[in-house]
Amino acid sequence: MAGPFSFATAVDVMSEPIPGKLRAQVAQRDRHRCCYCLTTEANSGVAMTCDHIQPVSQGGLTTLENLCLACSACNIFKSNTTEVLDLVSGKTVALFHPLQQVWSDILCGVRIKLGWKG
Ligand SMILES: [Zn+2]
Repeated sequence: MAGPFSFATAVDVMSEPIPGKLRAQVAQRDRHRCCYCLTTEANSGVAMTCDHIQPVSQGGLTTLENLCLACSACNIFKSNTTEVLDLVSGKTVALFHPLQQVWSDILCGVRIKLGWKG
Protein backbone atom coordinates (compact mmCIF):
# COMPACT_ATOMS: atom_id res chain seq x y z
CA MET A 1 0.00 0.00 0.00
CA ALA A 2 1.22 3.47 -0.76
CA GLY A 3 2.44 5.52 2.14
CA PRO A 4 0.74 8.59 3.48
CA PHE A 5 0.17 11.59 1.28
CA SER A 6 3.43 13.22 0.33
CA PHE A 7 3.11 16.81 -0.80
CA ALA A 8 6.65 16.74 -2.20
CA THR A 9 5.81 13.67 -4.32
CA ALA A 10 2.54 15.19 -5.45
CA VAL A 11 4.31 18.35 -6.56
CA ASP A 12 6.94 16.30 -8.37
CA VAL A 13 4.28 14.36 -10.24
CA MET A 14 2.19 17.41 -10.97
CA SER A 15 5.16 19.32 -12.30
CA GLU A 16 6.17 16.68 -14.85
CA PRO A 17 5.55 18.20 -18.27
CA ILE A 18 2.91 16.51 -20.42
CA PRO A 19 3.46 17.24 -24.11
CA GLY A 20 0.62 19.35 -25.51
CA LYS A 21 -0.29 16.84 -28.24
CA LEU A 22 -0.52 14.01 -25.69
CA ARG A 23 -2.60 16.14 -23.33
CA ALA A 24 -4.98 16.93 -26.21
CA GLN A 25 -5.30 13.21 -27.00
CA VAL A 26 -6.10 12.45 -23.34
CA ALA A 27 -8.65 15.26 -23.18
CA GLN A 28 -10.37 14.11 -26.37
CA ARG A 29 -10.46 10.45 -25.30
CA ASP A 30 -11.83 11.39 -21.87
CA ARG A 31 -14.36 13.80 -23.41
CA HIS A 32 -12.98 16.73 -21.41
CA ARG A 33 -14.29 15.22 -18.17
CA CYS A 34 -12.51 14.28 -14.98
CA CYS A 35 -12.23 10.49 -15.03
CA TYR A 36 -12.79 10.29 -11.28
CA CYS A 37 -15.69 12.65 -10.49
CA LEU A 38 -16.94 13.12 -14.09
CA THR A 39 -16.99 16.91 -13.81
CA THR A 40 -16.60 18.50 -17.20
CA GLU A 41 -13.88 20.96 -17.97
CA ALA A 42 -16.59 23.47 -18.94
CA ASN A 43 -18.39 23.03 -15.60
CA SER A 44 -15.25 23.29 -13.51
CA GLY A 45 -14.23 26.53 -15.18
CA VAL A 46 -10.57 25.62 -15.09
CA ALA A 47 -8.36 23.42 -17.20
CA MET A 48 -8.15 19.79 -16.16
CA THR A 49 -4.88 18.14 -15.28
CA CYS A 50 -3.45 14.88 -16.59
CA ASP A 51 -3.21 12.23 -13.90
CA HIS A 52 -0.73 9.39 -14.06
CA ILE A 53 -2.97 6.45 -13.18
CA GLN A 54 0.11 4.48 -12.19
CA PRO A 55 2.09 7.22 -10.46
CA VAL A 56 5.49 8.22 -11.80
CA SER A 57 6.85 7.49 -8.33
CA GLN A 58 5.73 3.87 -8.85
CA GLY A 59 7.18 3.55 -12.34
CA GLY A 60 4.20 4.90 -14.28
CA LEU A 61 4.95 6.27 -17.71
CA THR A 62 3.78 9.42 -19.42
CA THR A 63 1.78 7.61 -22.09
CA LEU A 64 -1.79 7.75 -23.36
CA GLU A 65 -2.40 4.37 -21.71
CA ASN A 66 -1.32 5.66 -18.30
CA LEU A 67 -2.83 9.13 -18.33
CA CYS A 68 -6.35 10.27 -17.66
CA LEU A 69 -7.97 13.65 -17.37
CA ALA A 70 -8.58 14.71 -13.78
CA CYS A 71 -9.76 17.87 -12.09
CA SER A 72 -7.22 19.43 -9.75
CA ALA A 73 -9.13 18.34 -6.66
CA CYS A 74 -9.25 14.68 -7.70
CA ASN A 75 -5.65 14.69 -8.87
CA ILE A 76 -4.38 16.19 -5.62
CA PHE A 77 -6.59 13.91 -3.51
CA LYS A 78 -5.46 10.78 -5.39
CA SER A 79 -1.86 11.95 -5.24
CA ASN A 80 0.58 9.09 -5.75
CA THR A 81 -1.71 6.33 -4.50
CA THR A 82 -3.16 3.32 -6.28
CA GLU A 83 -4.81 1.66 -3.32
CA VAL A 84 -6.45 2.64 -0.05
CA LEU A 85 -7.71 1.09 3.14
CA ASP A 86 -11.43 0.27 2.89
CA LEU A 87 -12.77 1.38 6.27
CA VAL A 88 -15.77 -0.94 5.97
CA SER A 89 -13.92 -4.17 5.22
CA GLY A 90 -10.58 -3.25 6.76
CA LYS A 91 -8.87 -4.50 3.59
CA THR A 92 -6.55 -2.66 1.25
CA VAL A 93 -8.30 -2.19 -2.08
CA ALA A 94 -7.26 -0.82 -5.44
CA LEU A 95 -8.48 2.62 -6.39
CA PHE A 96 -10.87 3.00 -9.31
CA HIS A 97 -8.97 2.59 -12.59
CA PRO A 98 -10.62 4.89 -15.13
CA LEU A 99 -9.34 3.05 -18.21
CA GLN A 100 -10.12 -0.46 -16.98
CA GLN A 101 -13.34 0.05 -15.02
CA VAL A 102 -16.55 1.99 -15.51
CA TRP A 103 -18.40 3.88 -12.81
CA SER A 104 -21.72 2.20 -13.48
CA ASP A 105 -20.20 -1.20 -12.63
CA ILE A 106 -18.73 0.17 -9.41
CA LEU A 107 -21.93 1.94 -8.38
CA CYS A 108 -24.04 -1.09 -9.24
CA GLY A 109 -21.83 -3.21 -6.99
CA VAL A 110 -22.22 -0.74 -4.14
CA ARG A 111 -25.97 -0.63 -4.69
CA ILE A 112 -26.19 -4.42 -4.51
CA LYS A 113 -23.84 -4.63 -1.51
CA LEU A 114 -25.80 -2.03 0.44
CA GLY A 115 -29.21 -3.22 -0.72
CA TRP A 116 -30.22 -0.03 -2.51
CA LYS A 117 -33.23 -0.20 -4.75
CA GLY A 118 -33.83 1.59 -8.00
ZN1 LIG B 1 -12.55 15.22 -10.40
